[in-house]
Amino acid sequence: MLADGAKVGRWQPVSSGRHAFGLDARSSEPGELTRALCGVVVRTDELQRVADEIDWIREPTCMDCWRELADRAR
Ligand SMILES: [Zn+2]
Repeated sequence: MLADGAKVGRWQPVSSGRHAFGLDARSSEPGELTRALCGVVVRTDELQRVADEIDWIREPTCMDCWRELADRAR
């Protein structure tokens, strides 16, 4: 049961799109690799940086991540 949507995951625009990540991904060591909900592998540096406003606009939302979150929240 996931009543609080904020605990499901976090979105972050990275070089391969706007993906969602589990909350534990943020606490990984810099330089490590982590995986988005859709399975895309991303460097934690990209995940932990503060994204520019334009990155949120420019990067397309990953629909696989979106679907994964939507299913979890059900
Ligand atoms: Zn994704």
